[in-house]
Order: sequence, then C-alpha cells, then structure tokens
Amino acid sequence: MKRYAELAPSQRTIMTPGPVEVDPRVLRALSYPILGQFDPQFTAYMNDTMEMLRALFRTTNHWAFPVDGTSRSGIEAVLTSLIEPGDKVLIPIYGRFGNLLYEIAERVCAEVAFIEKEWGTVFDPEEVISAIHREKPALVLMVHGETSTGRMQPLSEIGKACRELGILFVVDAVATIGGVPVNTDEWCIDAVIGGTQKCLSVPSGMAPITYNELAAAKINARKTIERGLRTATDSELPNLAIKRPVIQSNYFDLAQLQDYWSPARLNHHTEMTSMLYALREGLRLVLEEGLDERFARHRLHESALVAGLEAMGLTLYGDPNCKLPVVTCITIPEGIDGESVRSMLLHTFGIEIASSFGSLKGKIWRIGTMGYSCRQPNVLQLLGALEAVLIRHGAKLHTGAGLQAALDVYDQT
Ligand SMILES: *Cc1c(COP(=O)(O)O)cnc(C)c1O
Repeated sequence: MKRYAELAPSQRTIMTPGPVEVDPRVLRALSYPILGQFDPQFTAYMNDTMEMLRALFRTTNHWAFPVDGTSRSGIEAVLTSLIEPGDKVLIPIYGRFGNLLYEIAERVCAEVAFIEKEWGTVFDPEEVISAIHREKPALVLMVHGETSTGRMQPLSEIGKACRELGILFVVDAVATIGGVPVNTDEWCIDAVIGGTQKCLSVPSGMAPITYNELAAAKINARKTIERGLRTATDSELPNLAIKRPVIQSNYFDLAQLQDYWSPARLNHHTEMTSMLYALREGLRLVLEEGLDERFARHRLHESALVAGLEAMGLTLYGDPNCKLPVVTCITIPEGIDGESVRSMLLHTFGIEIASSFGSLKGKIWRIGTMGYSCRQPNVLQLLGALEAVLIRHGAKLHTGAGLQAALDVYDQT
C-alpha cells in the first residue's frame, strides 16, 4: 500500500488578501475536543459568538451568527433568503466580487439591474442614489471592500437613501470586517456578510452574517413549517409554495438557520464544532485588542508598506482616494514577469503575495495586510525580499530606500 507522508505544511509569511496567517490561539482552539451540538457548553459558546459578532458588526441586531461554509455561503444564504424570484435588485459593480453578487442574484431569479464603474475606482454615492431613483429596486447589493481591485466604497449615504425609500441594503463586507470599520447600524445596512480568513484571521470555512428586523421580516414572510415536503403556513402561500419552494435552498434557508441559532435550537445542520471554537477565539482576540485599536494597527502597517513600496520606486495601482486599507495593489513594472517574482518570493523567501483576476491579470500584484499577518516583521520581511527579488529580475529600483522609508514610518509611532 502506498504510504503518505505525515502532514508538514511550511511556515509561510502570507501577505495575500486571504487566507492569511492564523493566530496561534485560534489554531489551538481548533484542536480542542468535540462537543455535541446541543451540549449546553457548546450552545453557550454559540451564544457568546452571537454576542461578540454584534460588537464586531457594530449593531444591536438580534440576528448575528455564522453560516457554515466559506464567505460566499454567507452571501448565498442572505441573497437566497432575502430575494424573492422577480424582485428587482440593483447592483453597483466596481470589481470581481460585484460580479459575484450579480451571478448569485441571477441564480435566485431576481430581476437584476446593474451599474458599473471602471476597475480601480469606486462610485460617487450620488451616482448610486440616482440609479436607485431610476431603477426603484427592492434591494441594493454592494461590496464594501473589493479585494480584486483594492478599493473601498463609502456606504453611509447610500444606506441612508435606501432606508428612506424602504429599500433593503445588503453589503458584502467579507474583506473589511475586523480590519476597517463596518458600522452596520450607523450606515443603515440591513444585512451584512463578513468573512473569517481575511481580517479576522480565522481559517476559511465560516461566514459571519448579521441582519436587522426589516430583513428578518422579509425572511419570516417566506418562512415555511416542515411537514414532509415543506408547506407554507400562511393562508395565501400554499399555492405559491406548490409552484416553487418559498426559500429555494434548504442549507441556506436563514429562516431555518435562525431557528437553530435561537433558544428553540431546532435541528438543521450539524454545527461545525471546531470552526465555531476558532471563530469564537478569533472574535475574543479582536475584542481584546479593541476594534478602534485594531483598525489603527491595520492603518499603521498599510502606511509603512505603502511608504516602502513607493520609496523603492514602485507604482501603486488604482485611485488613492478610495484605497482599501487592507489591500495594496502594485503595478507590475514594465518587462517584469509577475508570476516569476511571486514564485521566487514563495520558494526562496517563504512569502506569498497575490496575483489578480480578469482584466488585471498579469498587470498587478495584490498585497494583503490583514489580521494576524498585519504586523511589522511581516511588512519589513516582505519589503526586503521584494526588493531582492526585483533586482534579481533586472528591475531598476532605489536600492535600500524601501525598508528605510518603512522604518521611518515605524519610528514616528
Ligand atoms: C474573499 C472574498 C469573497 C469570497 O470569499 P470566499 O471565502 O472565498 O467564499 C467575497 N467577497 C469579497 C469582497 C472577498 O474579498
């Protein structure tokens, strides 16, 4: 029989927009014994997690819990549960993850209207608000931080406009949650999806979400009771329910997930014990650090990285006025093979940075400064290694200037 070697993953310095390095405390949490999903000790951990998620999302919403699956499972759960077939949705798109919202909305049979912005920029909130007045959607779906282009969309004015018009505002904050402020209540966001493997520094595999009473009302109106094949409870609904399931997914039915995350603890799936431990520990770390302190830390290391890259002579990609603080995109210099640089960084220095998608493929590198990866030794190692690798590839740089500029930023704090 073939013998397989014992697992021995390398210790990497991960400077991508996710997955990122995980705090040793979270890794330890992943190794603890399994509890039954209705064990009172476990359900108490679930309740703690809900409380900490409310703090993270800066919300008083009752509903705040993780969906099991990667971040897009949270997006699918929210869109599938909130969008009724035929609902009009407006999606302002400024990068790849806007396209994902579009694709999922199409799958759940929304009538989709979209507006697009050139990659590397974001919308002026007024542009979105005028599209809202023109299209009159039932929902607006938007990305907060676009990891594909390294841009961040201001949301508060759009949220307020949606609230005044009675439109549900749904935001993908997968890349920003835990790294930059996501003020769910203040910005009038009705449903938010976060991610674990980005600024929370927990492995990929859960999607924390929150939604308010307006969103819950829509979900509950589509709720069914379980009786063999599910039958609607409402007097008018059975006819509709025969034609199509009321929420078109079982796994992503937030009405059922809610019942599992409520004191009723109605059985749905088997909760991912180890991931719940990991998320709970990751949230504990975030709240121990303090949200504002954590956001300031992300800003500090971003400044050092940016100062270093620019002093080295590299050019950043995208409109600097809407830069996503946790992702820095670099234009690959003329004549340099971007993939060869990434490969040497990984194999010679053990450092991973990201390439890019679609029209940006081969044109930019993306560097993440997220969560546990966002720290001084990582930023300095990356700047030193990148300079060495670029010189090796024949690039003309201001040798030595990058690290000094970053050190200057650190000296000032
Ligand atoms: C990473 C990311 C996702 C998708 O996350 P998965 O965990 O890979 O499913 C969605 N939206 C944004 C903005 C992201 O950065």
